[in-house]
Amino acid sequence: MTNAALIVAAGRGTRAGRGAPKQWRRLAGRRLADWTLDRFRMAPGIDLICLVLNPDDAEQWREFDGLDGLVLAIGGANRAASVRSGLQALQAHGVKKVLIHDMARPCVSGDIIAEVLTALDSHPGAAPGLPVTDALWVGANARVTGTQQRSALYTAQTPQGFQFEQILGAHLAHTGAAADDVEVARTAGIDVTIVPGHPDNLKITQPEDFDRASRILRQDHMHTRIGNGFDAHRFQEGDHIILCGISIPHSLGLQGHSDADVGMHALTDAIYGALARGDIGQHFPPSDPQWKGADSQIFLRHAVALAAEMGYRLGNADCTLICEFPKIGPHADRMRTRLAEIMGLDIDQVSVKATTSEQLGFTGRGEGIAALTSVTLLRVWSALQPGLQRSAALVICARLRVLGARWSPCPWLGCFIPSAGFHYWCWPR
Ligand code: MG
Repeated sequence: MTNAALIVAAGRGTRAGRGAPKQWRRLAGRRLADWTLDRFRMAPGIDLICLVLNPDDAEQWREFDGLDGLVLAIGGANRAASVRSGLQALQAHGVKKVLIHDMARPCVSGDIIAEVLTALDSHPGAAPGLPVTDALWVGANARVTGTQQRSALYTAQTPQGFQFEQILGAHLAHTGAAADDVEVARTAGIDVTIVPGHPDNLKITQPEDFDRASRILRQDHMHTRIGNGFDAHRFQEGDHIILCGISIPHSLGLQGHSDADVGMHALTDAIYGALARGDIGQHFPPSDPQWKGADSQIFLRHAVALAAEMGYRLGNADCTLICEFPKIGPHADRMRTRLAEIMGLDIDQVSVKATTSEQLGFTGRGEGIAALTSVTLLRVWSALQPGLQRSAALVICARLRVLGARWSPCPWLGCFIPSAGFHYWCWPR
């Protein structure tokens, strides 16, 4: 069963002021369209996006053509015609529910998308609405000529959701313009239930709407997660230890199933912790012989790639090694450099420091080494970033798609990461 979002971006938006059509204008550091598309890309339950483009937007046609999870359709003379074109383009994809959305509503929340999808389990149509709270006047020539009862009135928002076959039929039968898809649906006798809208789900219409939307989006952009990790490994016979990715000659080794890199394990766990995705033992069970003697960078790279898949990048990482010996100070900068390489960070985003436990406990008795770590993860809103790197990646991606692969190149990690249906670009910003 496929659920699709149909996003209408074919308008010219003349009321939003001069310049490019509003959907391609900058808003809080990126294009308005990038924000809206991300909302649906990240929404659980949306499998496919149909983007309706104006035939004149040649650059955007080139940009979006062939992307995974995206279907393109040509816009028509008015909104209803554009939606009809999008629905027809989706016909071949076995769509069950479709959510029709204005590109000009970039602040739509995941909650609203989820509410509409859920309501469609038990209703043929569902759309967000806000009860009107202001008094309503009727006026002419700048004078109030009457008042309007507001108790039964709502302002309509999108996404407006429908059972696909029903709304397709309604649009094919509809002639002329319509205020929105709810009007088209109701004309065809489709019952539409109202789910709660939100004042932040504004439609950018006037130039000043960009400022308001920008404030809302920047708040979201700041979304941060924090994780901590702890690990300890016991000394055993040996002649070196692996700590934070580098080998240090020592009179003892560290015991462990993998290479026993206690610092890297704690760092990996901090990332899993920040993502609320379990711990290193769940992802790489010690009972699994394939991880015997494994280079621990495999674990750390996995955690960083998982963060990228979930829409996060690392902000910084801090690692404290607790031991009486060996001395960490002389090696700390090499450790930072190595960890920064693996995590795709600059060295000034990575800290490695050490302490003793004043000869107390197992570290104090020299029985092993412990590590404590913290990381921050920052929300990445960089899908579909314009730029040279992106174009290069698009080419690589297109090639891989031909080969049937579903991997996204991630220059930030310096590797390819598997992508679940969509490509997430994770360029550092
Ligand atoms: Mg460990």
